[in-house]
Amino acid sequence: MSGDWHDGTRCVHAGLPEPAPGDPFLPGPVFAAPYHLDPWQGPTAGRDGYGRPDNPTRRLLEAAVGELEGGECRVFATGQAAVTGLLLALLRPGDRVLLPADGYFPVRAFATGTLTAIGVRVGFVPTAGPYPPFDGVRLLMLETPANPGLDVADVAALAAAAHAAGTLVVVDNTTATPLGQRPLELGADLVVASGTKALTGHSDLLLGYVAARSAELLEALTTWRTTTGAVPGAFDAWLAHRSLATLDLRLGRQSANAAALAELIAGRADVTGLRWPGRPADPAYPVASAQMRRMPGVLSFDLGDAGRVARFVEASRLVAAATSFGGLHTTADRRAQWGDDTAPGFVRLSCGVEDTADLVADVAAALDAAGPAGPLS
Ligand SMILES: *Cc1c(COP(=O)(O)O)cnc(C)c1O
Repeated sequence: MSGDWHDGTRCVHAGLPEPAPGDPFLPGPVFAAPYHLDPWQGPTAGRDGYGRPDNPTRRLLEAAVGELEGGECRVFATGQAAVTGLLLALLRPGDRVLLPADGYFPVRAFATGTLTAIGVRVGFVPTAGPYPPFDGVRLLMLETPANPGLDVADVAALAAAAHAAGTLVVVDNTTATPLGQRPLELGADLVVASGTKALTGHSDLLLGYVAARSAELLEALTTWRTTTGAVPGAFDAWLAHRSLATLDLRLGRQSANAAALAELIAGRADVTGLRWPGRPADPAYPVASAQMRRMPGVLSFDLGDAGRVARFVEASRLVAAATSFGGLHTTADRRAQWGDDTAPGFVRLSCGVEDTADLVADVAAALDAAGPAGPLS
């Protein structure tokens, strides 16, 4: 991939094989559990012998995501498989790990459950800080912007302080995507992310990945993945790669929609707690605007209670009630319904790629129709 290409070109060409007459642009999925072996040399003769360690469709996707993140990549069946695999592969009993206190809820649940049970000492730090000294900390995991609260951490500053103490730095890049920020360039040792969200963006598959510049760390994770088996299927890998080509276009519209909705909501006295790191008045803006290459299509706010959130979503014609984020369709998720420790009226709103004027008009009308906070009818 040419180093001077811009995002749109990089997405379209990421991971594609060299053109050859008669070949498709993106080869279709290779469906195989076992592959034919050389009868004399066995698996040593070729790359592919069995589908758990390797698959050609998966390799092309890994080349693509690796190009976008600026490192080597391994994909996993889900984001959760990537995060938990990374933590289990790198942490040992007695190690100290720091995780975001306001990050993805199932990761926190995994840490207090599984990691604590095997003797890993788990600490939680708010994404916006303050951060404790890193002496004796084996691994610092940041999630920036954090899901769902959208606070931001200064990756370069924290990586420098962590490395001075010998601490490994991992950044969950799910919300930003590799077009929104490149943590490896900012000094992180590893990137981990869910590809289920904006990266693939069509709400039709689950995917995770880890990217690293260190061959040694990546080797440990590859061995972990092969022995535990959390790999995506060939069709999901192909769908994901196919979706990457439009990442720049999708993020462009999603980010513009988020900017327009943030402006609408900031002007309404009946909505509180608006967060969007791209808004100059947002507490995350100074770090986000310096560190991020573009702003996410996700914003959050508080409608007071569950009833008003339900009335808002029901009144809207464009906002679907759904979890996850980063897809083509605008969705709203009241996080407390999943047990996330957020306020009852807290909404994470993920902007789709609908026409901006239509979306703003729809959300404004739905907020009007929802009326003030009150009991569930
Ligand atoms: C969704 C998400 C994950 C987990 O990814 P899945 O693909 O749902 O398993 C991890 N981290 C963050 C920040 C997420 O939003």
